[in-house]
Amino acid sequence: MNASKTAIVVGAGFGGLALAIRLQASGIQTTLLEKRDKPGGRAYVYEDQGFVFDAGPTVITDPSALEELFSAAGKRMSDYVEMLPVTPFYRLCWEDGSHFDYANDQDALDRQIHARNPADVEGYKRFLAYSKAVFEEGYLKLGAVPFLSFRDMVAAGPQLARLQAWQSVYKLVSRFIQDEHLRQAFSFHSLLVGGNPFATSSIYTLIHALERKWGVWFPKGGTGALVRGMVKLFEDIGGRIELNAPVARIEAANGRVSGVRVEDGRVFAADAVASNADVMHTYASLLGEHPRGVAEAKSLGKKRFSNSLFVLYFGLDKHHEQLRHHTVCFGPRYRELIDEIFGGKALADDFSLYLHAPCVTDPSLAPPGCGSHYVLAPVPHLGNAPIDWDVEGPRYRDRIFDYLEQRYMPGLRSQLVTSRIFTPHDFRDQLNAHLGSAFSLEPILTQSAWFRPHNRDAVLPNLYLVGAGTHPGAGVPGVIGSAKATAGLMIEDLHMALSA
Ligand SMILES: Cc1cc2nc3c(=O)[nH]c(=O)nc-3n(C[C@H](O)[C@H](O)[C@H](O)COP(=O)(O)OP(=O)(O)OC[C@H]3O[C@@H](n4cnc5c(N)ncnc54)[C@H](O)[C@@H]3O)c2cc1C
Repeated sequence: MNASKTAIVVGAGFGGLALAIRLQASGIQTTLLEKRDKPGGRAYVYEDQGFVFDAGPTVITDPSALEELFSAAGKRMSDYVEMLPVTPFYRLCWEDGSHFDYANDQDALDRQIHARNPADVEGYKRFLAYSKAVFEEGYLKLGAVPFLSFRDMVAAGPQLARLQAWQSVYKLVSRFIQDEHLRQAFSFHSLLVGGNPFATSSIYTLIHALERKWGVWFPKGGTGALVRGMVKLFEDIGGRIELNAPVARIEAANGRVSGVRVEDGRVFAADAVASNADVMHTYASLLGEHPRGVAEAKSLGKKRFSNSLFVLYFGLDKHHEQLRHHTVCFGPRYRELIDEIFGGKALADDFSLYLHAPCVTDPSLAPPGCGSHYVLAPVPHLGNAPIDWDVEGPRYRDRIFDYLEQRYMPGLRSQLVTSRIFTPHDFRDQLNAHLGSAFSLEPILTQSAWFRPHNRDAVLPNLYLVGAGTHPGAGVPGVIGSAKATAGLMIEDLHMALSA
């Protein structure tokens, strides 16, 4: 056992929590330091007048990775949180009034695809086979292993070439599917992890196979209940978590890190430090006084960061029974809008939205007969479009409310009990996210695997990264996988140090 070894994890997002659990479970005494007053990071929870709003992730896929995490700590996930299946996975809606219910029911899928374009039934079959092959290579084999050397990347090269990883998600989908709405239905997924379907590697089509294999789930009590379950697990096995503990600096000297300094001046010493905070924040601010921090921040400054999001949380005194749990509301434009979200200098006039209606699955998230919701619109990050969100935010909120009321939720404004917004400024200021990006580095091929910031720093050997900015990337399954990759390295390194 590593009983005398200690670790600090900076940030209690899903990645930080999962890493802290794995370290603590392996006998490394682990302290988790979180800046905000609640754990979860992007999976924060707002509560107001009986309404519970999950701030971020709501589509929970690959529950097996979560179950594996609980068993790594010798516990059963079902003793901590109940997972509810969501059907359909999503309802996809277009402005022509048509919709597509994406579910794990092959016959129902075939029927809907046939109604749009009979030839695409066969095309979908081939697309699913492709997506499964990418899932095997990209997720099952490589999703939770660290890419520390270029050799690892070269070793994965033949598979990546065979799967035509240089092609974009949309291009790949278009090879199999002809109908434009269906192309959108099977290519939008990369947006869930900050990837532009027209630029992101076709590797990300694996999300489709992943959802088909394990389904889409929602924790009873909301995503926040899963976060609370993970915190409880961490504490049950002896871990220590401190909230309201913003780390100001990672202490480094003589080629190693020695611990962290919290803003109130306290110093926590440890044998190893892992940062779950934004990668640019980690290097530019927390290590800003060390040459390594300066050099890596400079290099990160040249990379492409994912888009941001505008999120609007709202509670209504009515439950809208016509809604599904997850709805994607496609606007009038697809490619052009996405181009503007990823590269535009201003806010587009139109939008595409994701609408969350969790009371469809779990009515306990709002007072009886009421509904908790959030709606989000992908928007450019602050580096591309330095929008004054203090001014634009309320206007954008009103435009979105009008749109939803006209098309999806009649009477919305008169039913409104409470609302709040979260803008790119909040991603920047509350989560320390570089440029207000919602998903960290953009997941293009040249910023993936070995090309992504590594799970272990290349210069400071006892400094590690975990979360969306390192391998494999954003999304709950991604950061849970990153925790497994990083934990493997840390446990091995600390164990070797102990036996040396
Ligand atoms: C609105 C939204 C919806 C999403 N929906 C989905 C979805 O449905 N399904 C899905 O799989 N993914 C979804 N995602 C993506 C997913 O939520 C994220 O990729 C993932 O949660 C990021 O986890 P992380 O471990 O990188 O940490 P984060 O959640 O980014 O947490 C990092 C933590 O570090 C803390 N921190 C920062 N600086 C410091 C400091 N100096 N000291 C101490 N603490 C610090 C922050 O406060 C934060 O708590 C969504 C994201 C957003 C924003």
